[in-house]
Amino acid sequence: MRKKKQKIQPPRCPYCGRNAVLRDASYVYGDHVYKEGQKLYVCAGYPSCNSYVGVHMGSLRPKGSLANGELRNKRIRAHKAFDAVWHEGILSRKEAYHWLQDITGLDEQHAHIAMFSDYRCDQVIEACNQVLRNHNKQEVA
Ligand SMILES: [Zn+2]
Repeated sequence: MRKKKQKIQPPRCPYCGRNAVLRDASYVYGDHVYKEGQKLYVCAGYPSCNSYVGVHMGSLRPKGSLANGELRNKRIRAHKAFDAVWHEGILSRKEAYHWLQDITGLDEQHAHIAMFSDYRCDQVIEACNQVLRNHNKQEVA
């Protein structure tokens, strides 16, 4: 079978409907780029629409959906809470990712915090903190 070449469309901004533009990360981060070659999909309306998402290194694939400042912060918090569950050794990293699918009802392809909405992030933070509490570990704020 011939492999179809996948064309990747730039994602659309969920806040204003404009297309995102592939940019070097320095466009947003200035001198604070921590990985060379890092790219972002940035809303064409940036900075008045403060919405962007990271791109998998060496590809054109966005890591998730575009997010504004509030959602980006929430995703970071959700990731911290989730990582704490396996950093604390309550589950292995692999088990933790399966558990994330269980608690969200999402499959492997969609159970990624970078794709999560505000609501989904709250759900993950709550579930992770419950597990941490039950194991007498420090909750993640
Ligand atoms: Zn936008």
